[in-house]
Amino acid sequence: MTAKLIKGTDIREEILDEITKEVAEIKEKYNQVPGLVTILVGENPASVSYVTLKVKTAERVGFKEIQDNQPEDISEADLLALIDKYNKDDSIHGILVQLPLPKHVDEKKVLNAIDPDKDVDGFHPVNVGRLMIGGDEVKFPPCTPAGIQEMIVRAGVETSGAEVVVVGRSNIVGKPIANMMVQKGPGANSTVTIVHTRTKDLEGHCKRADILIVAAGVPGLVKPEWIKPGACVIDVGVNRVGEKISEKTGRKVAILRGDVDFDAAKEIAGAITPVPGGVGPMTITMLLFNTLESARRHLSAGV
Ligand code: NAP
Repeated sequence: MTAKLIKGTDIREEILDEITKEVAEIKEKYNQVPGLVTILVGENPASVSYVTLKVKTAERVGFKEIQDNQPEDISEADLLALIDKYNKDDSIHGILVQLPLPKHVDEKKVLNAIDPDKDVDGFHPVNVGRLMIGGDEVKFPPCTPAGIQEMIVRAGVETSGAEVVVVGRSNIVGKPIANMMVQKGPGANSTVTIVHTRTKDLEGHCKRADILIVAAGVPGLVKPEWIKPGACVIDVGVNRVGEKISEKTGRKVAILRGDVDFDAAKEIAGAITPVPGGVGPMTITMLLFNTLESARRHLSAGV
């Protein structure tokens, strides 16, 4: 069997087109567009390239996008004051602080200072709590898990009653996606198991999965024989396993592999995401979707 490929690059284009249309409608109705600020402290190269892509994508869909670059030695008090300024700015509907922050700044304190109603990353404890309650309480599902769920739904995979096994229990992927899939509602209603390094029979659990979501950060962890024939496999892992020269640019680029042995797994799974080009492109996409939703809520409430 050759699995259906669930391409994040294609789904991203669909969603960005939908967002662009909705931004035009919002502009027509309120004479305003969604506003997103990204605060970048220092010049960590990975953060700079990620933020640059975020800015470019936000501009493409017609958002007001502010990239607020701050020096590495900014004090915690100044950073908190900056967040307070954007919390009070009615033209800003989403605030994102790029991690990691320098050591002299308390990351938790900074993230918790973001108004939960503008926390488009969904990491504020209030939004984590709302996600746990589910239904109408959810304001900002965290972006990577939201992207995973969207891919499963758009690929037409049945989630209701499905056995979902999530490999990994991190706060940014494993725990939230498990929580989302177990909720009552469309795109969910699944029976969920979370596995991790202390799990006794990893292989046995994976073999039961109708939907296998792998977010471990271990290249090739999931072997093809662990996959139930016809299962949907979502590979979240992004692992640098070497370098090569890009044919397009002639520059050195990283060779990326997922947590699943893709070439063998695609002959057994019913549907599978590639790495790269699978879950990766969905994170920024869902960040923009969360910002759009935030703008809609703020503008319809007149704030
Ligand atoms: P993380 O915080 O390191 O968590 C990894 C989880 O996997 C942990 O819960 C760990 O278990 C579990 N794990 C590790 N090795 C395992 C093994 N041999 N058997 C069973 N479980 C194992 O990682 P993360 O932040 O969730 O990220 C996971 C992967 O997804 C990484 O490759 C990351 O780069 C990628 N990622 C991609 C995106 C994207 O594409 N947009 C976004 C986020 C993350 P313990 O808790 O027991 O240690």
